[in-house]
Amino acid sequence: MTPIRRLANQFGPLLATLIFIVIGVGVYLCADSFTNDARWVSHTNEVIGQIDEVDARLRDAEAAQRGFLLTNRVEYLADYRNARDRLPALATRLCVLVDDNPAQHSHCRRLQASVQSRLGQMESTVGIYRAHGLARAQAAIGQEVLRVSNDIRRGVQQMGAVERDLLQQRAASSRASANLLRGLALLGIPFGIAVIAMVYGLLRVENRRRAGAEAETGHANDRLRSSIEELQSRTADLHELGSYASMLQSCMRSEEAVALASDLLQRMLPGVAGSIYRIRASRDYAEEIIRWGEPAAASPQMLAHEDCWALRRGRPHAWDAGAGSCCAHVQATGVGELHTLCIPMVAQGVQLGFLYLSSARAGFMARTDLIETAIEQLAMALSNLSLQETLRVQSIRDPMTGLFNRRYLEESLGREVARCERRELPLALLMLDLDHFKRFNDQHGHAGGDALLTGFGALLQRLSRPEDIACRYGGEEFTLILPETTAEAAAARAEAIRVAVEAMRIQYLGRDLPDVTVSVGLAAMPGHGNSSDALLRCADEALYRAKREGRNRVSVAGDA
Ligand code: GH3
Ligand code: MG
Ligand code: MG
Repeated sequence: MTPIRRLANQFGPLLATLIFIVIGVGVYLCADSFTNDARWVSHTNEVIGQIDEVDARLRDAEAAQRGFLLTNRVEYLADYRNARDRLPALATRLCVLVDDNPAQHSHCRRLQASVQSRLGQMESTVGIYRAHGLARAQAAIGQEVLRVSNDIRRGVQQMGAVERDLLQQRAASSRASANLLRGLALLGIPFGIAVIAMVYGLLRVENRRRAGAEAETGHANDRLRSSIEELQSRTADLHELGSYASMLQSCMRSEEAVALASDLLQRMLPGVAGSIYRIRASRDYAEEIIRWGEPAAASPQMLAHEDCWALRRGRPHAWDAGAGSCCAHVQATGVGELHTLCIPMVAQGVQLGFLYLSSARAGFMARTDLIETAIEQLAMALSNLSLQETLRVQSIRDPMTGLFNRRYLEESLGREVARCERRELPLALLMLDLDHFKRFNDQHGHAGGDALLTGFGALLQRLSRPEDIACRYGGEEFTLILPETTAEAAAARAEAIRVAVEAMRIQYLGRDLPDVTVSVGLAAMPGHGNSSDALLRCADEALYRAKREGRNRVSVAGDA
């Protein structure tokens, strides 16, 4: 609101009220003055009338007196007496009327006195007429009668002239008051209407502005409320996400991590169906490993990398039925509303798979960032679990042959010995050493020796049962733990291995390496010791004897 409009709003009604008060007071004063003037005009007219009345009645009295003197008829005498009797009261009334005007009042007093003396003169003439007749009466009318009559005529004219002057002044003043009143009415009414219209307009504008401001406040409140709700829901989501992240860190297997992610997404996105795909080791195909809900659009269990835009582009891909590009794996029926979202699962720059969500309602799209975070954490967890698995394998496997290493042998031999002893089951241990390996190394180089070690490791693995534990003990020495196997059965297995080594053909640099042989020492429980150390020592001694007795043979501990 501009400052001018604010001033108009504040002082507009006040100004309008002031103007109305001024107009009202003006009208009242003018009307009052007009009434006053009109009263004075009427008063002056009454005075003039009264002067004329006194003059007329005096003339009546004189005419009637003359008529009586000339005719001696009593009707004239009656008229004379009637006029004579009224005149004093008329003169007194005139003096009362001009009481407010000292000059006129003194004129009136003189006129009253002259009238009085003229009446006395007439009464005296009538008396003389009655007593002595007309001639004596006429003779009695002298200069004095003429003077008094003249005084009266002059007095009447003088008073009349003053009153007519006053009448003119008062009539002019009354006209002026009437004109002012008319002017005020003519100016005041349109001006007042204009001011009312202006104030009304201002009030309307102000009301509209207030209504607008109230509506705006209402909208702001609504926005605030929805922001708070959004914030609360975000906080709840973040809380969920926090506990999900900490649980992911405690997962031992990838299946647990995937199940956690599935639970979280089901809770956070009710009514939204989903699947998590993992890219197979071959990296050609993505395979569905978990699914939940009833999908609004199905997706196959196995799909090619290029069938998903999210996998191809390495970023989330959302699709609304009727707009944009739909992934080839989404089997949209084209009936009803459909929204899908694919989010790639990437960790350390490697694509591990993707999340596929579908729903008939678009609401979940607003939470894409949260879903992305959940999937990112899942990808990190899966990557960590796979790294841990690699490290674990590396820590117990010999990298050249893929067999278990010596550390694992010591761990598992102790465990298996304890287990079999507890359950009173037999256990056999073979210690195998390639014959003249040093010479082989010298003849075919260290790399050739490595090729032979790798081939021997594969052979040993092939001839082991799932429950057997084949290890590279160190250098060209190997051990095979045979749980729940008697010495006799173990001797047969050892012999089978020895024969297989004889027949083994190893290719190196495109040609066959010469044949090799292996010597085997065998120790078994019970019989040759009840501890891993004792068994290892016995097997080693047996191996030493096999070497001594000519190599390429199996020696059993204690058979010396
Ligand atoms: P014997 O028949 O008595 O067992 O004779 P041998 O030569 O096999 O025995 P010896 O223990 O004297 O030699 C073992 C050789 O194995 C010595 C070492 O150079 C070689 N060797 C140990 N580890 C490796 C390996 O990882 N690769 C290769 N190429 N050679 C190895
Ligand atoms: Mg050796
Ligand atoms: Mg050897």
